[in-house]
Parts: sequence; C-alpha cells; structure tokens
Amino acid sequence: MPLQQLKHKLLVQKVQLERQLNAIHHDFQQGRSADAAEQAAERENEQVLNSLEHNAAEELKQINIALQRMEHGEYLHCSRCGEDIGVERLNAVPFTTLCISCANTPL
Ligand SMILES: [Zn+2]
Repeated sequence: MPLQQLKHKLLVQKVQLERQLNAIHHDFQQGRSADAAEQAAERENEQVLNSLEHNAAEELKQINIALQRMEHGEYLHCSRCGEDIGVERLNAVPFTTLCISCANTPL
C-alpha cells in the first residue's frame, strides 16, 4: 500500500501551498502607489491574488482533512458511502474524500 507515498505527496503539496499563501500575503502588504493608473493595475492584481488565495486556502483545507483522515485510518474509505476510494484515484487526487461514484453523484 503506497500510503506513505501519498502522505508524502500531500505534505509536499501542503508546504507548497503554505509558501504560496505566504507569498500572496506578502504581496498584499506591499505599499500602494500614488499613481492612479498604477492603482488600477494594483486593484486588478489584487483580484487575481484574491482568487489565488481562495483556491490555495481551499486546497490546503482539503489536504489537512486528508491528512487527518490518514491519522484516523479513514483515508482509504469514501467519507460518504464507506467504500474503498481506490489507490488509483487517490494517486490522481490525493486529497479526495469521496469514491468516484459518490464524487459523480451530487448530494
Ligand atoms: Zn462513496
């Protein structure tokens, strides 16, 4: 069972996301320029950063949940139906909590 490998993958991803979030926060703290045109560009930039931050934070949350599920020995099982998620699927999407059929079935 390549569980260690998956855990490693998740941890690497987690570090990358945390780094990305730090960089985004750092960018937010940069001072504003007085120039109006530049301010407009900065606002646009902030919107991009906002959505990047949102995505990174969301992914980080999912990774933390996956790591917790590993700790509790629930990682290999679908959080909805309890069936095996399948190693192949976990390899492709290490932070998933649903088996393929639940993932394709909206609540
Ligand atoms: Zn399921």
